[in-house]
Amino acid sequence: MHVSAVVMPGPRRPLESRSFPVRAPEPGGAVLETVLSEVCGTDVHLHHGRLAGVPYPIIPGHVSCGRVLETGGPVHDVEGRPIVPGQLVTFYDVYGICGSCWHCLVAKSGTRCPRRRVYGITAPAADGLLGGWAERIAIKPGVRMLPLPDGLSAEAFMGGGCGAPTGFHAIERAGIALGDTVVVQGSGPVGLNAAIFAQLSGAERVFVIGAPRARLEAARGLGVDAVLDLAECTRPEDRVAFVRERTAGRGADVVVEASGNPAAVVEGLEMLRDAGRYVVVGQYTDAGDVTLNPHRHVNRRHATILGCWGYEYSHLHRAVAMMAKHEARFHWAGLVTRRYGLDEAGQALADMERLAVVKAVIGPGLGE
Ligand SMILES: [Zn+2]
Ligand SMILES: [Zn+2]
Repeated sequence: MHVSAVVMPGPRRPLESRSFPVRAPEPGGAVLETVLSEVCGTDVHLHHGRLAGVPYPIIPGHVSCGRVLETGGPVHDVEGRPIVPGQLVTFYDVYGICGSCWHCLVAKSGTRCPRRRVYGITAPAADGLLGGWAERIAIKPGVRMLPLPDGLSAEAFMGGGCGAPTGFHAIERAGIALGDTVVVQGSGPVGLNAAIFAQLSGAERVFVIGAPRARLEAARGLGVDAVLDLAECTRPEDRVAFVRERTAGRGADVVVEASGNPAAVVEGLEMLRDAGRYVVVGQYTDAGDVTLNPHRHVNRRHATILGCWGYEYSHLHRAVAMMAKHEARFHWAGLVTRRYGLDEAGQALADMERLAVVKAVIGPGLGE
């Protein structure tokens, strides 16, 4: 049997539809019938060639969900329950961590294992259906599948997409205390999910600074306390004043950078109170350098500055559980502003690049 998949042949080259054989799952693996995959900023970066070490051609689509068609013998979730055909699942999109190299055994940092691969990003199309922009997805042995709980539809889960576990991880890093005031710089999916999980972590107030307007309206819909439109408030010092005016001149307890703009880091540190915590999660690609003042921004401010790279299975697992519990309040499904068929992948990338959508999903049988 053959199915079709969208292939990104290389940076800035047009997407192609190619036919792939569907192989029987390896022992411990599975085959999924794709329900939804996502189109996110990472896919735009991939198409521009801005990530190092990508083995083009690839099938894009890292966070996805699908129905189990077949498993290679008995397969279980982390709680020991069997994964069975017909189940709606997502999966932690990483494979290949070797467990036997210096990074795995000595540094105990599997996310830096040189053999680590990510579906839709560092998985070559030559190795098969290892991306979500396809009719089927091959789950390799050892890849952790996670059934979507009752109360969390495929659409709601994908409304969070990779932004949900990434935003969850950033908020875990931030260590929010009950009653904190939190500023989120950036209103893309990572910023919006950080704003959600900041509220669930007990922040008293959450402010979102970003653009365009549709994304700020989405932030308002999530119950944040104030939004600031970068298109209307164009001077950094006015944006810093916006935060300081609302915090008795002190600055915010926590600032989360989810914008991707290096200049936001200096601006965000100016928004931070003394002894506050600053998390950088938006600088996924190298967008350049900035100059900061180590005395004023870091040392005298007694600032804690934390990076946040990707996420682990733990973040996906807990984010999914929280999404199922709180979908009625935050309505992640409502963040999906457009659905694309596999034959509309090029349009989906173009729309994502010009920020015409809040969250875009792609899947077989969708589209106009
Ligand atoms: Zn390793
Ligand atoms: Zn993504």
